Amino acid sequence: MISLKACKNCRTITEANKCPRCGGEVSREWQGYLVVIDPERSEIARKMGIHAAGRYALRVK
Ligand SMILES: [Zn+2]
Repeated sequence: MISLKACKNCRTITEANKCPRCGGEVSREWQGYLVVIDPERSEIARKMGIHAAGRYALRVK
């Protein structure tokens, strides 16, 4: 079983122990799964300040 983690800084979901996008600390305690395909057209992405396509967590503890 793969345990996915989410970056505490930019909320990118990753399997790595460090965020591949910003190098930030990752946490196993996260909730909600958001896939952003087109960040400029996604209202949620804009609200969350996401500017790149990818997988994100809605909440990271
Ligand atoms: Zn990050």
